[in-house]
Amino acid sequence: MKRSETPNVRRAAACLLALAVLVQPALPPNAEAYVLNRNIAASGSCPVPQRWAATTPGIVDRQWSTSLPTSVITQLTPPETAIQQVDRAIRNSFDVWTSVDAPVGTTLTPASLGALTQTATPNICNFQDGLNSICFNQSHSAFSGGVLAFTIANSYDQIGPAPVPNHPNTTIIGEIVDADIYFRNNSSSITFATREALAANPNAFDLESVLIHELGHFFGFSHSGVMRAMMYPFAGRGIITGGVRCASGSVCDLPLADDDRAGMRVLYPNAANPNIGSISGFILPANPLTLALIPSATAGKPQPARPVTGIFGAHVVAVDAATGAVVAGTMGGWSCTPGQQLPSNFDGYYKIEGLPVNRSYKIFVEPLDSPTTSSDISNALDALCSQNATNDVCTPPTVQTGFTTKIKPN
Ligand SMILES: [Zn+2]
Repeated sequence: MKRSETPNVRRAAACLLALAVLVQPALPPNAEAYVLNRNIAASGSCPVPQRWAATTPGIVDRQWSTSLPTSVITQLTPPETAIQQVDRAIRNSFDVWTSVDAPVGTTLTPASLGALTQTATPNICNFQDGLNSICFNQSHSAFSGGVLAFTIANSYDQIGPAPVPNHPNTTIIGEIVDADIYFRNNSSSITFATREALAANPNAFDLESVLIHELGHFFGFSHSGVMRAMMYPFAGRGIITGGVRCASGSVCDLPLADDDRAGMRVLYPNAANPNIGSISGFILPANPLTLALIPSATAGKPQPARPVTGIFGAHVVAVDAATGAVVAGTMGGWSCTPGQQLPSNFDGYYKIEGLPVNRSYKIFVEPLDSPTTSSDISNALDALCSQNATNDVCTPPTVQTGFTTKIKPN
């Protein structure tokens, strides 16, 4: 990943939400689960998640531009205004992420958020201002093809004075110091409807679902391959059936899936939360001689190349053994022990955390080959090796998709 902005400021989550027309519902479930963007400390460290210092009250300041293009559709009951309706959708969307496992919760709570302010000024999304902004009417070169929206989240790899204004001293490595959300504003075929307007505008996308997805990036997530997960990278034109948002002809887009909640427990852990189970292991080929065919992780500066000793980039998924429901999973393939010389070990290791305890799970593994592919989590992959703007400790191995897995009979 090449970055041109302020040194040491990580621009790691320019994740795009795309049209669901790319989804082929007939495909078997693809289940790469929560994947987190990460940082390596300036002083060197194992990659750590990028996240907010959520225990600091009000650390997440928030503003949105009330400049609304025609692509944002509202349906008003006077005297409500369009701005009031969109403002409510924004508040609802933040609530989804700050209420995970409530009342025990994660450490990301409503108290983590600052006031949500409005400004009539357009084009307030600026990744160097330390203000966290939502823009519905700001153009960007990333808007092409089926891109609906995207988020740029910047994190810092040191503790101390923040590299941007309007943010206090950072207190954790990988602390997010600025995040901005852009909605598509320049397409005649892409519109966003509030909940109130969605039924009458079935060709529009559910504004709230899109925003909840982008807020996942805002809070530190990469993409998930679980179709039901909010962090799945594709969205459908929305309808609401029985209070459940569904992508037309595709899968229901519930506010959050178990997969998203598991990721939140990892990103913002709360010791009082009982959902602390984890499953770990290694994904190794049946024939270890095939590993010789996999290129080593490219040498960084000044670290040597690291041999690949396991499958890198596999989807490893925990399924509830009783119900068959996908609970959570992760991208397998690497490990790192604090204090070790970087880069990480590309050894096929995986660890799925944030699992509810007192349940039985089955693990399955599959290639990350479609509909979600390595390109959908490229930021998370690059961040395993990126130390700062000019010094990458390695280049990750190519995500391995040329393998098959078999069910082992009980
Ligand atoms: Zn996304």
